[in-house]
Amino acid sequence: MKPPLTVAIVGSGPAGFYAAGALLSRDEFDVRVDMYERLPTPWGLVRFGVAPDHPQIKSVSSVFAKTASHDAFHFYGNVELGRDVTREELLDRYDAVLYAVGARADRSLGIPGEHLDGSVAAVDFVGWYNGHPDYADHEFNLQTKRAVVIGNGNVALDVARILCSPTERLATTDIADHALAALRHSSIEEVVVLGRRGPGQAAFTTLELRELPEFTESGVDVDPEQVLEAPDEATLPKLARRNLAVLRDYARSPAPRGARRMVLRFLRSPIELRGTDRVEDLVVGVNELRTTDDGRLMAADTGLREIIETGLVLRAVGYRGLPVAGLPFDNDRGVVTNDGGRVRDAEREYVTGWIKRGPTGIIGTNKKDAVETVATLLSDLSTGRLIRHSEGLRHAHADITAWLTDGRKDVVTEECWQRIDAFERDAGSIVGRPRVKLCQTSKLLAVAHGREIESQ
Ligand code: NAP
Repeated sequence: MKPPLTVAIVGSGPAGFYAAGALLSRDEFDVRVDMYERLPTPWGLVRFGVAPDHPQIKSVSSVFAKTASHDAFHFYGNVELGRDVTREELLDRYDAVLYAVGARADRSLGIPGEHLDGSVAAVDFVGWYNGHPDYADHEFNLQTKRAVVIGNGNVALDVARILCSPTERLATTDIADHALAALRHSSIEEVVVLGRRGPGQAAFTTLELRELPEFTESGVDVDPEQVLEAPDEATLPKLARRNLAVLRDYARSPAPRGARRMVLRFLRSPIELRGTDRVEDLVVGVNELRTTDDGRLMAADTGLREIIETGLVLRAVGYRGLPVAGLPFDNDRGVVTNDGGRVRDAEREYVTGWIKRGPTGIIGTNKKDAVETVATLLSDLSTGRLIRHSEGLRHAHADITAWLTDGRKDVVTEECWQRIDAFERDAGSIVGRPRVKLCQTSKLLAVAHGREIESQ
């Protein structure tokens, strides 16, 4: 019998899991998938990106768990490309390597004062409240009356909503314990969200915009002048018109104020962060919309300035992909250069998810994207463009496990992850939460390998 096609997937977020699912569901191909993950836990942004108060979005993890239960699937957590294994070593051991490494860096604003304490990337704040081990020790200044969030995407709404939500509500979620404790002592009374373009150009999805009063138990402050009459509304895309309808409802109804209110302001750009050691205020430029030659609506500075007093400024202006050593990289877009998922000028290497198309779309968008990459890979196999390893070089699952565990005991297999998962869920069930997350790598590894957790 012909041995299976072996594919290494690097990255265990939605993109990686959808690719694994697409490979393992093809009856006409016998495939073995080994998934490598730098952290001790799988699921990427489903665990560390999706907000804790959005459990319905996280429920997609049951699809990933089903893929992981496949006999031909193996998980290797706490194994980092570049640190523990090299690209060449993977290419030596697999017929194909598929990178699903996401876009984990933040984008900066490039304005004076951005380096001051109190000026932070929303990416870090999201990692912190979601218990990502890289951010567990971070501290954010919540002892300020006002926070400002820059950007009009769903990440901006996530962080603004978490900052405004009553903590009793958050306490029923899987938010990291350290974040819950800090938010309980927060002095924030107002969160201002700034969009550089108009309400019709915001990137929010309507569901996320509409749920704000219910989740924060407060009204949302929108200036009627900015939304009641939007120019050329008929030309706007459907999403923008739906968003506008919600924003108008907010502008018309002065809803009762909760402990913390959210303010949405449009046509405002950050110009400068000011303060001695830490952020004390933000200088904001007032914009107007201008149409470019290619028909895009851009924010143009009118020269008018406003000052917002604040001790915490979170920039939520998008994620950015990082290069994968040895692969061609498009610096402007932050993606590995590829054609339909096939890495350009490379052999047997593929990409999917944010590192392939950039940081856009919702979790489900990655499914279509992964299906396209897997179709490219299998078509390359059929046409002879993807040439498999010869028999002598083939590595069985046992060989791979022996290679990875040689000299190190901390590789997290699927069985180890099951232990972590059960431990967190058990801890959660005692206190009426979906899970209580372990947020330190040392604790995750201890539970993974059935060791006692050392108290710190
Ligand atoms: P995003 O949707 O691309 O939004 C980025 C925002 O930042 C845009 O409003 C953009 O404005 C603004 N921006 C960029 N540069 C700026 C600058 N220099 N100054 C001021 N504003 C600037 O990115 P994201 O919010 O990080 O989300 C990433 C992806 O994850 C999106 O596809 C999002 O829908 C998805 N996501 C989904 C959910 C969910 O479904 N619940 C939750 C979180 C994230 P312009 O439009 O003017 O460029």
